[in-house]
Amino acid sequence: MRLERYSLGIGDRFGRQGEAQLTAVARAGESGIRVTPVWNKSHREHTIIGTQPADVRREADCAVAALGWTGPYYVDADHVSAANVAPFLDCCDFFTIDVADFTKQTSAPEEIRRFADRHGRFVGALSVPGIAREIRVTNEDLRRIAGRFLPAVREAGRIYRRIESARGRGNFVTEVSMDETDEPQGPAELFFILAGLADEGLPVQTVAPKFTGRFNKGVDYAGDLEAFGREFREDLAVIAFAVSEFGLPDNLKLSVHSGSDKFSIYGSIREAISASGAGLHLKTAGTTWLEELIGLALGGGAGLKTVQDIYTGARARMDALCAPYAAVIEIDPARLPGAEEVSRWTGEAFAAALRHDAACPAYNPDFRQLLHVAYRVAAEMGGTYRAALDAFRDPIGEQVIANLLDRHIARIFPRSAGA
Ligand SMILES: [Zn+2]
Repeated sequence: MRLERYSLGIGDRFGRQGEAQLTAVARAGESGIRVTPVWNKSHREHTIIGTQPADVRREADCAVAALGWTGPYYVDADHVSAANVAPFLDCCDFFTIDVADFTKQTSAPEEIRRFADRHGRFVGALSVPGIAREIRVTNEDLRRIAGRFLPAVREAGRIYRRIESARGRGNFVTEVSMDETDEPQGPAELFFILAGLADEGLPVQTVAPKFTGRFNKGVDYAGDLEAFGREFREDLAVIAFAVSEFGLPDNLKLSVHSGSDKFSIYGSIREAISASGAGLHLKTAGTTWLEELIGLALGGGAGLKTVQDIYTGARARMDALCAPYAAVIEIDPARLPGAEEVSRWTGEAFAAALRHDAACPAYNPDFRQLLHVAYRVAAEMGGTYRAALDAFRDPIGEQVIANLLDRHIARIFPRSAGA
């Protein structure tokens, strides 16, 4: 199984927007932007919402059947570890192996020495085709990188072999993610991580490093745009070099997690992948949940009441809802409207505060981030929330489609050659 050049991680908390999401991808294809849909959902989301991995497979298959989609598509076991991979094995054909936690461990000196021996030829000036500056790698650098990343690389190998023995070699796509760490991984680190994955015999097709800057959930990138652009281009060059040096799959590409809504970096990503011919995987699942809320608000009546209740619930339990997401949200409580006030808003006012349109004076990124982590409140409403999704299916679908197609796919993915 070989992942196509451009792919989009989609998915939604409650599993109702499969058709709308696939519609966005299909319409992009009609306009010459070919993107492969990948439905992803993590163990964490399943636990909070009370769904099973098989539900995502069903959602994807149903959307594909309903639209008569004949292109490739995948179901991704997102952020799996050894402890939770088992229930995903039957129904997924894409596995995002998350080894971020293992970057906090240290390697045995013997392992570090073996790695440094094997890759000692890269000590000195690492000249990577496509990178103008010289990347200096000292012996100490190599040992430090090995010390920090070898346990993660080894763990990725163990989980990969477990998946391989269940599904068979070549029957699934493998991604390795280390994005949920405190420190970004620069181009030199990425290069040696890929060396280690190749040593493990792991045919990695997408890799998700932690990039410089903040990738807060549901809002724009926060950081140095220039530094990000440079790092991204260097990562692309490092990947191409690692593919040729270590014999990794030649479609290996970067995966950008928390990739939705990072509009200010989409231009430089698009330019870099156009210029280099590199691929891209962009994960966007979280943004669709917010479009659901916008659609409900615009639907008015019971739809609006539902989203106002979710905000009231979220406001009351803000700290608990935010805690698991501390590294990927930044909310200033002083900028949040009171629950009382929001309960008097019209659907249009609610939608304008929530919709990610930086040019709109009513847009409130703090409000948006709080609602991003508030899906637990909706999950606790159980049947009430799901009934609202069914009742307001059409206004929600419109928002989901427009958001994915116009604000995401069209801005970041280049048109295919000849289209
Ligand atoms: Zn991630």
